[in-house]
Amino acid sequence: QEQMKSLGRQIDYAPKQVHVIGAGVMGGDIAAWCAMQGFQVTIQDQKTEAIGRVIKAAHTLYKSKLKARIAINGAMDRLIPDPHGHGLKRADIVIEAIFEDVQVKQDLLRDIEPKLPEHALIATNTSSIPLEKLATALNKPQRLVGLHFFNPVAKMPLVEIVHGQQTSEESVNQAGSFTKSIRKLPLPVASKPGFLVNRVLMPYLMEAVTLADEGIPLKVIDDEAVKFGMPMGPIELADTVGLDICLKVAEILSESMEIQVPEALRTLVNKGNLGKKSGQGFYTFK
Ligand code: NAD
Repeated sequence: QEQMKSLGRQIDYAPKQVHVIGAGVMGGDIAAWCAMQGFQVTIQDQKTEAIGRVIKAAHTLYKSKLKARIAINGAMDRLIPDPHGHGLKRADIVIEAIFEDVQVKQDLLRDIEPKLPEHALIATNTSSIPLEKLATALNKPQRLVGLHFFNPVAKMPLVEIVHGQQTSEESVNQAGSFTKSIRKLPLPVASKPGFLVNRVLMPYLMEAVTLADEGIPLKVIDDEAVKFGMPMGPIELADTVGLDICLKVAEILSESMEIQVPEALRTLVNKGNLGKKSGQGFYTFK
């Protein structure tokens, strides 16, 4: 609790420009949320159509949350498509939300570091990769911090602030301060497998997938009893998170804790049935 209180005490960190890389499920929502909170946000992706989808989804979010046309237009103006990453050179904070792959993330970090201002904080939204592994790609590993948002970003208040062995205290404080300034709740955690939330959540999701594989109807697994009063049941949540992401995180966790990764999950991912984002997972999405 003491650590939570001290987060964000730093007063000389007032970021204005946010650069988000990865316009998928998470990066898109993070970018849209930050622009809604008043930040100038550039959003980069290797696929321009992904950026287009983010802009469209942001408009829908702003219409439901902001209502007034002037506020909606203001937020839309602050969210800037940036397929070539021009925003990197003026970013105060860069948030990486690309594929959950060590090599891909290392390559990206290596590429962007020299393009960023000296003071910029480098944040990763990784769910499962130890920060120490990603830090090897950087000349200044002390400015790498995890900002682990939860899905869906607009509804989930928590952000885990992940510190690796080399992350500086200043970076952790800056990340905490930034998280508060976008009206989220920072929770400091060490870069241990699953951090805190996934360590608790993944065994629950994997057991639910095993139940589905054993033939228990989805509506029974996802009904009120198994939801424990949460907004959605475990199978719907797995589909929402993305089955590929669940598989990656569960596999990494299985190296350090007792957790069974069901074959049924692997089979779905191999077929390209990734959940909501592909239109088909355990459920079919229109
Ligand atoms: P996603 O597959 O939906 O999106 C990834 C995006 O990154 C894609 O649009 C892809 O084109 C882009 N991309 C990949 N490599 C790139 C590169 N080198 N340069 C530019 N763009 C690139 O993935 P996601 O579910 O949004 O996950 C992104 C990150 O967030 C992962 O690290 C994941 O572990 C983490 N995360 C995911 C969730 C979740 O619920 N899905 C929750 C918390 C954290």
